[in-house]
This record gives sequence, C-alpha cells and structure tokens, in this order.
Amino acid sequence: MKAHDGMYIDGAWRPAAGPGVIEVVNPADEQVIATVPAGTVEDVDAAVRAARAALPGWAATPPAERAARLAALRDVLVARQDEIAETVTAELGSPPKLSQTVHAGVPIAVTGSYAELAATYAFEERTGNSTVLHEPVGVVGAITPWNYPLHQIVAKTAPALAAGCTVVVKPAEDTPLVARLFAEAVHEAGIPAGVFNLVTGLGPVAGQALAEHPGVDLVSFTGSTAVGRRIGAIASGMVKKVALELGGKSANVILPGADLARAVNVGVANVMSNSGQTCSAWTRMLVHHDQYDEAVELAAAAAAKYGDRIGPLVSATQRDRVRGYIARGVAEGARLAAGGPDSPHERGYYVSPTVFADVTPGMTIAQEEIFGPVLSVLRYTDEEDALRIANGTVYGLAGAVWAADETEAVAFARRMETGQVDINGGRFNPLAPFGGYKQSGVGRELGAHGLAEYLQTKSFQF
Ligand code: NAP
Ligand code: MG
Repeated sequence: MKAHDGMYIDGAWRPAAGPGVIEVVNPADEQVIATVPAGTVEDVDAAVRAARAALPGWAATPPAERAARLAALRDVLVARQDEIAETVTAELGSPPKLSQTVHAGVPIAVTGSYAELAATYAFEERTGNSTVLHEPVGVVGAITPWNYPLHQIVAKTAPALAAGCTVVVKPAEDTPLVARLFAEAVHEAGIPAGVFNLVTGLGPVAGQALAEHPGVDLVSFTGSTAVGRRIGAIASGMVKKVALELGGKSANVILPGADLARAVNVGVANVMSNSGQTCSAWTRMLVHHDQYDEAVELAAAAAAKYGDRIGPLVSATQRDRVRGYIARGVAEGARLAAGGPDSPHERGYYVSPTVFADVTPGMTIAQEEIFGPVLSVLRYTDEEDALRIANGTVYGLAGAVWAADETEAVAFARRMETGQVDINGGRFNPLAPFGGYKQSGVGRELGAHGLAEYLQTKSFQF
C-alpha cells in the first residue's frame, strides 16, 4: 500500500489543501493498493490559477517548440511503457497484454500524432482579404473516466498542448495512479510549469469545482450522460466552450453475404475487450433472421472462449450495475446464450462474458449503455429494418458494417446516425475524428479535428 501525497500544480508536487484521501483498489483481488489526496475547491483553484498564469507564455511558444515538447513526452511514455501498463493493470484490472498494447500503446501513438500535427498544422491562413489566426481557446478543464484512464487524459491533453492551451486534469477516482504517472512524464519531458496540472479528487467536489471555475475557458468531459448533462448546463450558463464524450450503444450490422463467422468473432472480441468497458463497443449485433440461429451459436461459443481471459470490472459498483442489467434482460424475456449474472471468480469484480439472444429493440438491454461484457443479438428482416434498429437509440458514437463487398457496406454506413463506422473489420485509426451524433456527445477528439476543438479563430482584414 502506497500513500501518495500531493497534486501536480505549477510544475511541482505540492501538498493537498485538505486531509481527505481516496483509496485505490485493485479490482482483481479487492485489495487497497494506494491512496491519493482528495482534492478540494482550493486545490482546483490553485491549479487553475497556475494554468492561467502559464497560458500567455505557452500560447506564444512557437508551434515547432510545442511539437518538440510533445515529442519528448512521447519518448518518456515509450521509456515508461511497462510501468504504465503495470499501473493500469493494478488499478483498472485489465489483462497485461491489453494494458501494454492499448492502455499504454494508444496514448503513445496519440501523443506522437499531436507532436506531428503541432509541427505541421496551419495555425494561420488567408481567405480573401483576411488573415485568419487559429489561437488557443485558453485554460482547459479536463474531467476523465476510468475505462481508458491514460488514453482519455492524453486525448484531451495532447491536442490542448499542441494548440497552445494549458490544462487542469481531474482524473477518475478509481484510476488516479496512471494520471500521476503521466504528470511525472510531463515533468520529465520539460513541459513548462503550469502548462499541465493534475488534481485528484471526487467528481462532485473537485470535478464540479473545475467545471464551475471562472478561470476555465473550455470544459472537456468524458463519462456518463447524467454527469455530462450537468457539465453542459454549467458550461452554457457561464458561456464556456464544452466538449462532451458520453456513452454509446453501437450497432454491429451483419448484412447477408458477409463473412458471418468473422463478423461475429470480431464483434464478440470488440465487446469483451476491456471487460466491455468501452463507450464505442458494438454492444448490439444485428443479424438477418435467416442467419440468426447460426450467429447466436457462434457468438455464444466465442464468448465462452473469453471466459478466463477477461479482466474484472473496475469496481463493485460497476459489477453490480452490470449484473443488474443482466437480471433485467432475463426479466424482460431475452434468452441467455452464454454467461449470466453469476461471477466466475470468488474474489474480484468479475462478470462472465454474456450473450443475450431474442433481444428486441425496445428492451432495456438494447437501449441503455451497460458498460460490461454483455452482447445483445437482435434479428432483422431486411435492410430497412436493420437501419431502423441500428439508428433506434438516443446514442450514435460508433458502429460496424459487414457485407459481401465494401461498396455495399459503405452504402449502409452512410445512412447510420453515428460518428464512426468500421467497414468489414477496419482497423482503429488514431487520426480519425472520434465523437458522437445525438446524445453520444458534442465535439470530436483525435487527429486534426481533435486539435480544432482547442482553437478559436481571430481574423484580420486588410
Ligand atoms: P461518471 O460519474 O460520469 O465519471 C466520469 C468523470 O466525471 C469522473 O472523473 C468523475 O469523478 C467525474 N464526475 C462525477 N460526477 C461529477 C460532477 N458532478 N461534476 C464533475 N465531474 C463529475 O461515470 P462513472 O460513475 O464512473 O460511470 C458510470 C457510467 O458512465 C458507466 O456505467 C458508463 O455507462 C458511463 N461511462 C462512460 C464512459 C465513456 O467513455 N463514455 C466512461 C466511463 C463511464 P469520479 O471518478 O470521482 O466519479
Ligand atoms: Mg462517478
């Protein structure tokens, strides 16, 4: 058990204002592994002041120099990749291989991409008789969740720093350790004092104080719809910019003629990865009625294979929430094809990889974000029916389409109300804009579109 002290504010670890602490629990064995300080309004205020004070200098730093600092940060993350992976495994419970490749690997790629973008982006352009400047929006308050704990911090911090903004991060209470590690990396990379600040603490205390702080120009939030709504309301009340990345209930649409086994296997892997704690997971699989029984059988077999390779959920609260959804699915008449509400382990917050068949579009498990290893397989009669079901939720974050050929898949994907669609198993691209249609959110992350979120324009007329 390690008792961590201090918040990273103005380039140094300084003691927290209050005595409160947060216990960090390893979800695989339920042991307390560390404590971190629970930040208060005062800590948030100190961090925002530091970020404000650092803003003019960082905003005026030439983009090439900001790029060099981001490249240095990427190199530190590479050097500390094993430590990052071990930390995420300890506090989130993800299997070591996933921690290496995704939880540590993706932030390295994203930081690298913003080092490049900062060096090459057109921060100034001409249109007619005007020069348009793309200037940083100012101080960013970033509130992040635990499901991809370092990625979510980097997906906000790297573009903000590339843009010339300064940042205060409030990480999720369940996963503050990798956030502290990131602050150390920022320090090691020689990023000037005050440009990046970290305040650990509880959402309704430190998170809310950050969203409400008059010194914050942009609030960037990833997490639940309920909290996102509140943050959106606070930000609009104060005329702040806001970016919200909220949940999803994405559809994996398998059209007749697709490689059914591949589509089902990749679809199951997509849902079970990270124990189902992925906002963009394709948690609804849509299959033509002629292929339905075969697809359910394949999905159940694929899920069963995941049985002992899947990590726990992040907390007892999340485990109980997910089990509640499984019970609800059964109560509403869906059929368990794999898994169920029982835990496969005695200790740890595990949930069995679960597949529901005979799910109809109106059921709770087909509408609400479950955030656990639970897949619903739904039946459609024809393409129009599939489209209605695919678009028939309040969300629109991601999705997949499988067809005999790309043209057919793309034609369907064009009609989906969602921000990202993988065509016939397309790979993750850290440069593609990520973000939601409908209630999945406001704004985009990653790549040049993610950078633009942290810029505002000023035009000179000649
Ligand atoms: P959450 O409460 O929305 O947490 C996200 C972040 O917001 C955390 O840093 C949290 O702090 C903070 N927060 C909480 N209340 C706040 C407030 N009043 N003002 C400002 N910040 C606040 O999400 P959760 O409770 O951890 O998870 C609940 C559900 O949200 C999940 O089951 C899932 O459906 C969804 N979720 C979605 C995503 C996503 O990527 N879209 C990620 C995580 C969760 P604390 O850590 O202290 O609560
Ligand atoms: Mg919470």
